[in-house]
Amino acid sequence: MSDNQEAKELRYSEMPLSEPMQAALQNAQYEYPSPIQEGVIPLALEGKDIVGQARTGTGKTAAFAIPILERLKPSKEVTTPQALILVPTRELAVQVRDEIAKLSYGQRIECVALYGGKPLRGQIDKLQRNPQIVVGTPGRVIDHISRRTFKLDSLSMIVLDEADRMLDIGFRPDIEKILRQCPTDRQMMLLSATVPPPIERIAQRFMNDPVKLDFSPKNISAETIDQYYFTVDQSRKYDLLVQLLIREQPRKAIVFCRTKRGTDRLQKRLARKTSLVRCIHGDLAQGARNQTLSDFKSGKYRILIATDVVGRGIDISQVSHIINFDIPAYSDDYVHRVGRTGRMGQEGVAYSFVTPEEGGELTSIEMRIEKLLMRDEMPGFECYEKTSVDTGPGLSEEDDIKEVGLSVAKPEGPPPKMNSRKKKYRRAL
Ligand code: AMP
Repeated sequence: MSDNQEAKELRYSEMPLSEPMQAALQNAQYEYPSPIQEGVIPLALEGKDIVGQARTGTGKTAAFAIPILERLKPSKEVTTPQALILVPTRELAVQVRDEIAKLSYGQRIECVALYGGKPLRGQIDKLQRNPQIVVGTPGRVIDHISRRTFKLDSLSMIVLDEADRMLDIGFRPDIEKILRQCPTDRQMMLLSATVPPPIERIAQRFMNDPVKLDFSPKNISAETIDQYYFTVDQSRKYDLLVQLLIREQPRKAIVFCRTKRGTDRLQKRLARKTSLVRCIHGDLAQGARNQTLSDFKSGKYRILIATDVVGRGIDISQVSHIINFDIPAYSDDYVHRVGRTGRMGQEGVAYSFVTPEEGGELTSIEMRIEKLLMRDEMPGFECYEKTSVDTGPGLSEEDDIKEVGLSVAKPEGPPPKMNSRKKKYRRAL
């Protein structure tokens, strides 16, 4: 946790939590609750319904997992699942299950993750072991409900995690179908980075007088994230990326592309220069995705090229750089992408490559985050008008990326100091 936590008064040890929970928190080295945890846990322990606006990286998983674990009835009394957590992606399902395992350390709690891409059989076996908690993606959860391998009768706690994401990817009918079948006498928590009208409607329809809590910093991109943009011609983005990697020497960078093909292409080009790059997108087999993510987390690779769908929601701590190779089509995606860095108070920096035609997209991002991105420039990559003749020092495929230093694993350390970067200019509107 960051130093500013020291200033906080409330410690977990002072919160009215059970002994096993205190032990698990100690084991996880969670000393202070994050703001969302401090806000949600006491209300959730009282059984209140909650709509919490928060992005990932704020500690939102523990905010709902701790009260769920505290409110579980003994498994002798209740033999079918008591809590259901719906999430948009398989990666998030695994991540939430792992966080629950961490927080139930020392207790006999079974939590199963249900998601597509894995055979039903193994999941059915796990469901037969009477787990108290089920985490799953809506499609696969419905599958198990209709096979009667997952029984909803004893559900007393339901969480919709990253609700806006679930709606974005079309899970709304599935979610409503599940909620309609759940017991009405239940507690419900809804977590979402944004609360657009369709989410409000779900809350109104399925929740019981929910308490609304907003943990999204007004300026979504927390103080710990510096955000810049480069204006660059489409054809020169790749060269700019290489120069930026040379300049920044990122400890861990995620480079976002808009399409799966673009992600593959960029990975292939960069891989000719450095062995420290991998890519991840929805066409890759689940096993390969998990492996790539865990290798990136452990630091085996330092550059991950990703599409929005897989990049979002994933908890990869210590990402120092986000590079939007393609500016996102939707400004909400910008929020999610940039949210991969600056997590839990750590420093991070985000760069967006904007072509001269994409000024409108840049403006809508700035309106969305209520902040201007700062302009950055790379010598030789100044972008004039569309007709400008390029005079910059382009890089050929043969250029040795060893000069980037990326072929040599660097020891983990703090990201470069801001003042070591090139002077930044505020964009005049
Ligand atoms: P989340 O927003 O739930 O994805 O959590 C982001 C990261 O913060 C995860 O790696 C958690 O394990 C970690 N975390 C959550 N709560 C705390 C806490 N109170 N103290 C330290 N780390 C935490």
